[in-house]
Amino acid sequence: MFQLTLRRRGISDQAVLRTMEEVPREHFVAAGDRDHAYRDSALGIACGQTISQPFVVAYMTEQLHLQKQHKVLEIGTGSGYQAAVLSRLCAHVLTIERYRTLADIARDRLEALGYFNVEVMFGDGFDIPPGAGDFDRIIVTAAMEQIPEKLLERLLPGGILIAPVGPHHGTQTLVRVTRTDGGFERKELVDVRFVPALPGIAREL
Ligand code: SAH
Repeated sequence: MFQLTLRRRGISDQAVLRTMEEVPREHFVAAGDRDHAYRDSALGIACGQTISQPFVVAYMTEQLHLQKQHKVLEIGTGSGYQAAVLSRLCAHVLTIERYRTLADIARDRLEALGYFNVEVMFGDGFDIPPGAGDFDRIIVTAAMEQIPEKLLERLLPGGILIAPVGPHHGTQTLVRVTRTDGGFERKELVDVRFVPALPGIAREL
């Protein structure tokens, strides 16, 4: 049923569909939400944040055109679900979260479930440490009013970034930016709703 819903909504990449089927979403939602983990909707998690809707996770993953050898950056770990999905389709995922509590829970959860090629970092996605290097793919899972130039510079040649761009409260547009020889190519995809990307680490736990 889960795969069928994703197919009906237009997801066609077999590897993405298979991965969505394999990653146990019920382990990433709040205990009280287990029964509707596979509903096509976003759900609340700790710290007032959300785990994205399955369709949006599948769609963003499909639009990244991942390859086995890719090194991927995710901004906005949340539950760790999107990172788990990505990790099955690439070599390494670095995911950054501004809430220490969420980063700690996601790290433990991913390790317990055997997602060993994911590194969870507590930090600010607007300020990626230089030592983290550059990336083949960057996925932002929180709404940005605009895509920082500094972040685009972390894309390797031929790299792709995907991010929800628009006002913090309201509807955003999913934007895909490809780094080309000459610069950057931008394409607007679909409308989405994400919680805001906020600068700095969270003061609350
Ligand atoms: N990808 C997640 C859902 C993300 S919700 C999942 O699969 O569950 C968005 C997350 O982005 C929230 O947890 C929020 O705290 C985080 N976030 C917002 N601004 C951030 C920033 N500047 N750096 C890192 N994380 C940020």
